[in-house]
Amino acid sequence: MKYISTRGGMQPQSFSDILLMGLAPDGGLALPESYPQISRSQLDAWRGLSYAELAFEIIRLFATDIPEADLKDIVSRTYTAAVFGSEAITPVKRLSDGLVILELSNGPTLAFKDMAMQLLGNLFEYVLGKKGQSLNILGATSGDTGSAAEYAMRGKQGISVFMLSPDGLMSPFQRAQMFSLQDANIHNIAIKGMFDDCQDIVKAVQNDHAFKAKYQIGTVNSINWARVVAQVVYYFKGYFNATSSNDEQVSFCVPSGNFGNVCAGHIARQMGLPVQRLIVATNENDVLDEFFRTGAYRPRGTANTYVTSSPSMDISKASNFERFVFDLVGRDGAAVKALWADVDAGKGFDLSAKLAEAADKFGFVSGKSSHADRLATIRAVDATDGVVVDTHTADGIKVARELRLPGETVVCLETALPAKFADTIREALDRDPPRPAGFDGLEDLPQKVVVFDADAAKVKAFVEQTLAQ
Ligand SMILES: *Cc1c(COP(=O)(O)O)cnc(C)c1O
Repeated sequence: MKYISTRGGMQPQSFSDILLMGLAPDGGLALPESYPQISRSQLDAWRGLSYAELAFEIIRLFATDIPEADLKDIVSRTYTAAVFGSEAITPVKRLSDGLVILELSNGPTLAFKDMAMQLLGNLFEYVLGKKGQSLNILGATSGDTGSAAEYAMRGKQGISVFMLSPDGLMSPFQRAQMFSLQDANIHNIAIKGMFDDCQDIVKAVQNDHAFKAKYQIGTVNSINWARVVAQVVYYFKGYFNATSSNDEQVSFCVPSGNFGNVCAGHIARQMGLPVQRLIVATNENDVLDEFFRTGAYRPRGTANTYVTSSPSMDISKASNFERFVFDLVGRDGAAVKALWADVDAGKGFDLSAKLAEAADKFGFVSGKSSHADRLATIRAVDATDGVVVDTHTADGIKVARELRLPGETVVCLETALPAKFADTIREALDRDPPRPAGFDGLEDLPQKVVVFDADAAKVKAFVEQTLAQ
């Protein structure tokens, strides 16, 4: 399988070549030339597989240049009960109104990002080993991505992580998760500023091409294609867990920010998984909801992005959305290039005609949730089912309940555990969220972090010194 760019300007490349790539050279995102098509007999054969077996069957269709025995080894080391808490890896539970919750947050950092990031850590180590290269990951996080990346890369050969976070702005739990890691290849840098200042420093370093090449600087952001592929697996697994036969259909409801998670659902549906609808749930930052309701895409600047109680969705420029738009415009790279030129000029675009024409082909609908909705949903699910859900998952449940059709099986994706967002849980329920085993006393562990002003030169000097040791 070869990969092309959504903007039409990249020579087809193999999986291993795009694995370490951020944006394509033309500014677009990598996608396969076509999606593999899954037959009914394949689907029947897959129903009884374990998570790791299923992951191997799906990922081998995309990672065709990794020898199968090696891929099998990587996947079976990744998806284990030891890392994800149970043999099921992604169990489901049913609420009393019939909604199905697909648990994706039982990995080391208690958010769904572990599902893909754990695989990425093992894939990076493998491919770097083959190429005889090393990689220094420089990232910025407001919480979940940074911890998922650090837990995936800790102790890995040939990889170091330098993670910037806004000083004092993450929750005490999130801070403790990251800063308590003592691994020699993990480096936490707290920046006196906001998340955007951290992001600006990453961009400044990326744009220093000489520095980037000299120190093999790379990223692990959500546009990474391998992360999307890893997420395709749990849509298949979630479908099998929520149904008893391949004659049934389900819909998925997905709390969305960067459109990475639901992009994997779109790909699973295009591969032939029996998905009725894909329901996009946003918080107050509702750019995606506006698009799926009206066809108008109007990304906003930071000044118009709200800080909410589902903070991992406080995004107004959904980077992975470009992959869906490429399919929506009939895989026309020149058209996507023109649309994003309008986005960069601050104009946005209107695809209402295309969206209406292709409604059945893609099956997207959407809704949004507010702080009050979130609190009400957390309370209702606790009162009726005795289950405490996190704030992002609550946004999904709210929208699923609103949009569900008679007879429709809706699977809501759990994107984090409530222990990560204790303040809002206390506001809703007047008590602390449950804490999974093994996290007691986390905040009391010694922490390793350096604090810098928002200055790219300081960060570069720190990277240089650290790598010289
Ligand atoms: C990252 C994240 C999301 C948003 O996922 P996208 O792939 O960016 O749409 C939702 N909830 C939680 C808890 C997250 O960490």
